[in-house]
Amino acid sequence: METVKDIFGSLVFDDRTMKATLPANVYASIKKTIDEGKPLDAGVAEGAATAMKDWAVANGATHYTHWFQPLTGITAEKHDSFISPAPDGGVIMEFSGKELIKGEPDASSFPSGGLRATFEARGYTAWDPTSFAFIKGKTLCIPTAFCSYSGHALDKKTPLLRSMEALNKQALRILRLFGNTEARAVRTNVGPEQEYFLVDKKLYDKRLDLRLTGRTLFGAPAPKGQEMDDHYFGVIKPRVAAYMEELNRELWKLGILAKTEHNEVAPAQHELAPIYTTTNLATDQNQLTMEIMQKVASKHGLVCLLHEKPFAGVNGSGKHNNWSIATDLGQNLLSPGETPYENAQFLLFLCAVIKAVDDYQDLLRISVATAGNDHRLGANEAPPAVVSIFLGDELNAVLEAIENDTPYQGAEKTQMKLGVNVLPKFNRDATDRNRTSPFAFTGNKFEFRMLGSSNSIACANIMLNSAVAQSLKTYADRLEGAEDFETALHEMIKKTIKDHKRIIFNGNGYDDAWIAEATEKRGLLNYRTTADCMPHLLDKKNADMLISQGVFSQAELQSRCDIMLENYCKTVTIEARTMIEMAERQIAPAAAGFAAKTAAGIAAKKAVLPGVGCAYETKLTEKLSLLTDGIAEKTADLISAVKELEKAKDIIEESAMIRDTVLPGMEALRALCDEAETLTSKEDWPFPTYADLLFGV
Ligand code: ADP
Ligand code: MG
Repeated sequence: METVKDIFGSLVFDDRTMKATLPANVYASIKKTIDEGKPLDAGVAEGAATAMKDWAVANGATHYTHWFQPLTGITAEKHDSFISPAPDGGVIMEFSGKELIKGEPDASSFPSGGLRATFEARGYTAWDPTSFAFIKGKTLCIPTAFCSYSGHALDKKTPLLRSMEALNKQALRILRLFGNTEARAVRTNVGPEQEYFLVDKKLYDKRLDLRLTGRTLFGAPAPKGQEMDDHYFGVIKPRVAAYMEELNRELWKLGILAKTEHNEVAPAQHELAPIYTTTNLATDQNQLTMEIMQKVASKHGLVCLLHEKPFAGVNGSGKHNNWSIATDLGQNLLSPGETPYENAQFLLFLCAVIKAVDDYQDLLRISVATAGNDHRLGANEAPPAVVSIFLGDELNAVLEAIENDTPYQGAEKTQMKLGVNVLPKFNRDATDRNRTSPFAFTGNKFEFRMLGSSNSIACANIMLNSAVAQSLKTYADRLEGAEDFETALHEMIKKTIKDHKRIIFNGNGYDDAWIAEATEKRGLLNYRTTADCMPHLLDKKNADMLISQGVFSQAELQSRCDIMLENYCKTVTIEARTMIEMAERQIAPAAAGFAAKTAAGIAAKKAVLPGVGCAYETKLTEKLSLLTDGIAEKTADLISAVKELEKAKDIIEESAMIRDTVLPGMEALRALCDEAETLTSKEDWPFPTYADLLFGV
């Protein structure tokens, strides 16, 4: 039996494999690009391509693909084989440096939001040497960025890499000010915790809503939900355990450090967490993880649901983005240090995050906005749509002491005075756990908890990196010109706390009183839906920052706003159409048919026993008849709400109509259908129920 050590990374062209197979100069050059962000030397492509191909072929690959992340949110690939005709009538396996570096997928059907005119249909993909190539099936997958010929980013990787570069640049300026001359690069690290549901494939196949939209659009609550709290961290069932075991092996082969797995709060819900890594790699690996999760599920007769809200009434699925900043030498800049001087640097980075989250609350909200995630945020199971930061008691006390020039009443009762050398030494607050905060400090990292389970983590990290780069830039600009560094530093930390403390909230984020306080007293933003927040991507404050940090161009921002809103409208419209189909062709006929059967029963009973009472049947027939009439009416309303969308003058208006008429129309139809389900006999109901789905594995 192969051990984990044998299989780990066996399908990845990782550092070990590169070192062993690449010519020394090629290896050194690629390593420089990976470690220090230096541009890739094009001269090394030929050597890299040959070694990569030989390794891939030896491991069973026959094809290669440029693997990229278009704005559809999933990954894309187009396979080409390595074969090339040989003069003797046979074939040789070939792969050139040119093919490695650049690809030209016929990309006209990927969303571009108007960035790529049709005459310019061929976007191109460019090798990203900072993310390792890997083998999937018989294909060598080369992670790439995807751009239009005019140079506009058409994917999520390009702006992510740009945001990492922006943060690198500003963070290095700060480190130099603190006398750090050794660090060559600063990068963010991410460990995304991924939630998902597993349902039986046979049951899934019977539900049009699950198949077409990934979530249940109908379904009365099961008699048992999550109220017993008996699933979270509960014993894993054998079938699920077998799934997790195979999933782990597949992920390990791909060099993904799948580490923790456990049952989640809702029945049939689970979580997988990898060990954190560089954000770029973590993003690629999370996309791959989601793909492998679904693939492995089908081998076990299961379906892995990654939708944010597959079932009403039980918790939905999110993704916790654990995020930190570190130097290439491994120093975590969000880790409180041993000495006051280290702590001053820590406090500055902490303040940079606080300022960034407050200044760009809207961008963080936008970065997690999808039709699916709108069902979670603010629904008492996930953080609210209001962004705030949790720091924990100890850090909070430190910040208050600095703000008010009062003694710090922490573990060491240090007197606070101006100047770096007396900033307090404090312990990292590891015990405090707050699960309701959208953005929580957890000792040496921040956990951004608003992400939806199906979303690429790229979007959230692009905004986070850029916003923090912007804070650091403001700080560096000020400190580089300061006469007295220590005084300026102390004043700046103090000012940040004063100006941005409204974003800090250490209480219960699920509490309605908090939402009132946040919006009314503190002036924090509360964008409840995708339709509400997305247009603000283009607000001048946001566009100015993202453009000046070199992360997006104006045209890219416009296109992304359009694509995200289009995606929102399309997703909900498909859901509405699916509901109409199910209501008209499955639910209404089933309920009406059962009512007719019940009515026929009355006649049959009376034929035998003329005086018999039929109160049960009569009432049931009546109730179901009223419901089916109502269902017909609400279906007609929904049909016209969808039809009305054609009249929208632009995508912003259409998304508002989706929010104001289509979604409420769907809810109204569902309520009647779910009631009909509770009155119709189980054998007459046309598809599996919540109890079947949630407890069927
Ligand atoms: P939780 O209590 O939320 O489950 P864990 O300590 O288990 O917290 O970590 C959850 C995730 O955070 C894991 O993916 C882990 O690798 C990641 N993580 C831990 N330290 C860091 C760090 N310094 N930077 C980024 N992610 C980290
Ligand atoms: Mg967590």
